[in-house]
Formats: sequence, structure tokens, C-alpha cells
Amino acid sequence: MLKSWIALVFIGLFSLPVFSQTIEDIYQQNRTYTHEEVIRKYMRLEKEFPQQCKLVTAGEVDCGRRLHTFIINKKGLFSADSIDRSAETVLLINNAIHPGEPCGVDACVKLSRSWLRSNKVPDNLTLVIIPMYNIGGGTNRSCCSRANQNGPDEYGFRGNARNLDLNRDFIKMDSKNAFSFVEIFRQWDPNIFVDTHTSNGADYQHVMTLITTQTDKLGHLGKYTKETLTPTLFKKMSANGYDMAPYMHTVGRTPDDGIMDYLETPRYSTGYTAQFDCIGFVTEAHMLKPYKDRVESTYAFLEILSQFMINNGKELIAQRDKARYLQEATQVHSINYQLDTTVHDSIWFKGYAAKYKTSEVTGLPRLYYDHDEPYEKYIPYFNTYTPNETIKVPEYYVVPQAWKEVVSRLKHNKVVMTQVKRDHYTYVDADYITNYETSPSPYEGHYLHKDVVIETKNVKVKLYAGDWMVYPKGDAKRFVIETLDSRCVDSYFNWNFFDEILMQKEWFSPYVFEDKAAEMLQTNSDLKKRFEDKKKNDPDFAKNAWTQLYFLYTQSDNYEPSHNRYPVYKVFK
Ligand SMILES: [Zn+2]
Repeated sequence: MLKSWIALVFIGLFSLPVFSQTIEDIYQQNRTYTHEEVIRKYMRLEKEFPQQCKLVTAGEVDCGRRLHTFIINKKGLFSADSIDRSAETVLLINNAIHPGEPCGVDACVKLSRSWLRSNKVPDNLTLVIIPMYNIGGGTNRSCCSRANQNGPDEYGFRGNARNLDLNRDFIKMDSKNAFSFVEIFRQWDPNIFVDTHTSNGADYQHVMTLITTQTDKLGHLGKYTKETLTPTLFKKMSANGYDMAPYMHTVGRTPDDGIMDYLETPRYSTGYTAQFDCIGFVTEAHMLKPYKDRVESTYAFLEILSQFMINNGKELIAQRDKARYLQEATQVHSINYQLDTTVHDSIWFKGYAAKYKTSEVTGLPRLYYDHDEPYEKYIPYFNTYTPNETIKVPEYYVVPQAWKEVVSRLKHNKVVMTQVKRDHYTYVDADYITNYETSPSPYEGHYLHKDVVIETKNVKVKLYAGDWMVYPKGDAKRFVIETLDSRCVDSYFNWNFFDEILMQKEWFSPYVFEDKAAEMLQTNSDLKKRFEDKKKNDPDFAKNAWTQLYFLYTQSDNYEPSHNRYPVYKVFK
């Protein structure tokens, strides 16, 4: 007994440094907190300042552990419905969605400790931190799964416990992590959201680069973000010693040819949060800078953003109210944004000369960035996106209850929806999927569709008591349209939730159908003409008896009306 007690003291002495060291000690030694350590740090802060902060368990994640949020509120109000949203804003920070990029995990501990210990907790801003979102990836630590990154000594892996990239999972929600995130996000309804990352790609002098949620798709709030919020953040970061640049999404191989805005569609964190009029930022600290600098620049950004929210809380609330008012009033919605390559801005860029030399490995030319030749110049910045199409918003969509996976995701997102009261037949606008492309290889567990073409017909369908009428209105209006209109890039259709309708259920035997086909041609002169024209103009068709019979079968009353009919119907006023 005494021996084991002595052993425990010894273990305690050796493990003591981790918990007695400050956050600065940790990251300055090129280390990042483990999941256990970061939660313990927040528990300690909660114990020290129980009136102003709370660590809350917030749903499950795929690896079986519980997700946490750490909430800081000056008045000790730790639930979303207890704070006065007409006077207070909410900032939600998500860390370690990619656990190999842990700057934000450590920066948020530094931020929380700084606010609490220096008595700086603001009275008009609630801070909600997700200490580590991808816990499964975060506990799967190694020295070197990010080949191009300079430290820390050990860090987590990108894939979660199911090998999902959680930063592609916000619409399809294959992970429990995503369900838990949506719960937190829709409960707190943050004014601003930040997802903390570390960059990949080019080498340059900037320690911090920033993805601002692409502003053209954000409507009214996009203008405010582009003209007021983001320029202030860039200016303040410079004053703090961090000349930030937009994320280096390069046009060519190096930044010299210019960069373009990253279009984060709804599958990405800030693309998802934008659906609900929440302004999103992705901090991308530069992968080759020392870990200490990455943590400190992330910390500086979070401090500066918080200060902006403290100073401009009323304005942020008013801008969002106006955005939601305008959003509610509009009857049209723009979809599938594309980069406009004909116009560009420019940014002041601090780079390193990109050069080529002969590779020792391949004997072919290889790229390198010459640190002995730093430069500063303007480079083109392509930051205008325009919609491909503008669609008319229906009064409501009908989602039959049979599509329960979609219904469950809509409910989880607190979408306005009511149930059909009794079985009945009704006329609706139904979209027939006439063309689409499918990815030939799996992408995040799916064979994604894209480039959907539809033909809309007004048809009579049977609805059952309990089917769902889903309304594109309220704060989830944009989310409803982007997920339910099959043409939208991240629609549930494109994510394979409705693939069953793409397969025909009943077929015909040619020798039986021959007689009916002949009769159809005899009695329907229009069909006969279309059939003969097709034979004349399409030699393959003319040579293939089965294809000809199938063409006529699809025109017959034997052909099932539900084949390729997208089962989310639209009802217009
Ligand atoms: Zn990342």
C-alpha cells in the first residue's frame, strides 16, 4: 500500500509540470494540449471563476466522448435563452476540426485565462468556445501526419473516429460531431463564428491569413462584412504586428499570379454558418511559422475580433436584424456562385521569391521559395462571385416522411415545418431530374452528384398524414432552399439522400411490349412523328430495337411516374 502510495507521488511529481505550466510554457516548448489537458485547464478556470464561466457537456462525438463548450458571460448567464440578444452578441469559436492544426485550442485557453484573470470579461459579449471539436482525431496523436507543417511536436489527425473530414460534414451530418455542433450553433445563434486552422500551400512572410465567408453570397451582411468589419480586422492586426493577408487560394502555382476568394459552400463550417446570417471567419496560421507564432497570431485575431464585437455590438445586431428582414421579404434566391474572372481587386502581399532548380530526387525542375529574397508588392485578388441562377422561392416544400434522414436533419436545424393532417391527393410542382453528373470515386463517404438539370411539372401526388411541409422562412430560410432545391451545390440530393428515386423499379419484356408499342404509334400521330424523327437523326437509335422499345415504354402509361421524380415537391402561392 505504502509502495503504491509512493509510486503515485512519483507519478504526480513527473506529471505535475503539464498541469502547473502556463499555456505559454506549453506552446513555447512547441507543444499543444491533449484533449484531457485542455478540458482540465477549463475545469480549473471554472473552479476559479464560477460566476463568469462554465464548462458544459454538449452532445456526443463519433469516438464516444462528450463534446464540451466553455462559456464566458459576465453576468453568469450560461444558457442561450437567458441572455438579452437585443443588447448582447455571441461569438462562437470552434477549434481542432482539423486536430493537426491546433493553434486555436491553445489560443482559446490563453484568451479565456486572460479575460478571467485580468477581470476583462465584457458585459455585452458572450464567448462560446468549443475546446476540441474533432476529439477522435485529436486523441489520435502522432509526430508527423502533416508533412508540410512546422510543429508542434505531437498533434492529432485530420480524420475523425470515422475518418471523416468534419469540415465537409455540416450538411450531410454523417458524424455525431456534426449533430452536436448543429445543436450548439442553432441554440446560441452566434453573430460571428470563427473556425481555427493552419494553412497548407505556398510559402510567404505572413504569419496569419484569413478566409472571410465569401461576402457576395451573404447578402446584406456581406456588404457590412466586406466594407466595415474585415478592413478593421486587417488594420488592427497590422497594428499588433501581424500583417494579415487573405487566405492564399492561388490562381496559379504561386501567389505571384494572384489569389481568389475561397468559396466555402454550405458543407464547410463557415459556409454552413452563413446560411443563418452568421458572419464566419477561418483563421489560417501559416504552417511553416514556429508554433508559438501561430498560437499568438490566432490569439491576437480572436482578441481583436472580440474587441470589435464589444465596441460595435449594437451595430452588429442591427445589421443582422436588417439582413434577416430583407431575407424574409425576398421571393427569389440566387444559387451556385461562380468566380468572376473578369474583375479583380489587389492586395499588398509580402512574399518570398518563387524560384526553380533541378530536383535531387526527380532530376526535373522543382519549386522553392527563397527566404533570402523577401519582397512586397501588389498582387491581383479575385474576390467577386456571381450567381449562376436565380430561383423563385416556393411558399413551402413537401418532404414525405419516408425520407426520414432528411427530416431529422431539418428538425435538428430548427427549420419551420408542420405535418400534413390527413391522407390526400394534391397538385404540386415536381422536379424531374433529367441530367446530372456523379463523382466516379467516393468523397467523404458519398458519390456526390453535381450539375443537376431539372424539368418541373405540375402533377398530382398522394400525401400521407405526417408528411412534412417545410417553410423557407425565418432564420433558416436560406438553409432550407440550399438543402432542398436539388440544383444547389450542397443539396441533400447531391449528397445522395434521394438516390433511390434514380432507379427504375418495373421493366418490360420486349416481346410482350412490341404489340402495345405498335398500337401506340398507330393511335398517336405526334408520338409517331417524334419516334420517326429520332430514328432518322440518331443512327445508333435506328439500329437498336431495345432502345426504340424503351423510348416508347417511357411514353406509355406503364412507365412509373416516380422514376427520376425528385420527391421534395414545391408549392407556390
Ligand atoms: Zn484545416
